[in-house]
Amino acid sequence: MIKKENYFLIFSLLFVRTVSVSSFGYSKRQQHMWSQEFKKCDGNLQSPIALSTKKSVRLPLPALEMNGYHDFLFQPLSPFIFGGLLNINQEYELEGLHFHWGRKNDRGSEHSLNGVRYPMEMHIIHRNMAYPKMENAMVNVDGLAVLGIFFQLQDNDNENLKPLSQNLPSIRWIDNQISLNTSITLSSLLPNDIDTFYTYRGSLTTPPCSEAVTWIIFSTPVPISFRQMNQFRILSNGEDILADNYRKLQKLGKRKVYLRKLIQNYSSYYNQFDVNVTSLDWYWQ
Ligand SMILES: [Zn+2]
Repeated sequence: MIKKENYFLIFSLLFVRTVSVSSFGYSKRQQHMWSQEFKKCDGNLQSPIALSTKKSVRLPLPALEMNGYHDFLFQPLSPFIFGGLLNINQEYELEGLHFHWGRKNDRGSEHSLNGVRYPMEMHIIHRNMAYPKMENAMVNVDGLAVLGIFFQLQDNDNENLKPLSQNLPSIRWIDNQISLNTSITLSSLLPNDIDTFYTYRGSLTTPPCSEAVTWIIFSTPVPISFRQMNQFRILSNGEDILADNYRKLQKLGKRKVYLRKLIQNYSSYYNQFDVNVTSLDWYWQ
C-alpha cells in the first residue's frame, strides 16, 4: 500500500537538497567536488552519458511493461514496471519523480541523444521490490530502474502537462514538493512512443551517485510549450532561480548501451526470435 505521504514525495523537484545542510551544487567547480564527500561520484558506471544510435547495440528486446501508469497517482496502489532488460520475474515499484532543466533552451537534459541536449529531462525512479527500502536498493547494481524522458519545445501548450505546470507557480520556493490534489497519471507524462528506448547500467545523477540504476531512456521526447517550460524556470530555492540543475556527461567506459527499436513490418519477424535476455552482458569484454 502506498503511504499517505507518498504523493507529497512523488513530485519532489530535486532542489530539496540544494537548501539543506549537506548541499551540493551544479556549477563546474561544485560538481567536481561531489566525489570528495561521495566517493561513488568518481566511479566507472556513472550517469548521465551521451547516447548515440550508431554506437548502441540494437536488439528486439522485450517491451517495457507498466502497471498502474494509467491510474491517478493518489490511488492506493503503487505503480510498478517490469520487462525490458530488467531482471526477469522482478518488479520495480514507483518511488518518485523529478526534473532537470536549463536556464536556456539549448540545455537542461542530463543525457544527450545523438548530440542533442534537450531543455528538460524527467526521471521516474523505481525500486526493485526484491529490496525492502531505498537504502538497500541503492547498494545493489540491480536495485533501481529509472525512466528518462526528454522534453522538446513547441509553440502550443501540452494539455497533458497542465495539471503539473499549473501547480508549479503555487509552490515557488515556499515548499519544494507538489502535493497532488489534482488528477494526473504517469502515462500522461510519457512520450507517444514507448516502444523505442535505450537501456544501460549507470548511476544516480546526484550524490551519493549510487551505481544501482538500470536506465531506460525513451528516444521520443514529450512536447512542452515555451510558456510551460518557463514555469519551471521561475522556480526558486529562495535565493536563486532554479535551473541548470543537470550533471555533466560522464564516461561510458566499457559499458554497452542497448537500443530497443522495432522495425515496422518486421515486428512479427522479431517476435519469432525472442532475445535470451539472461545471456546479454552489460559490458564489453
Ligand atoms: Zn534525476
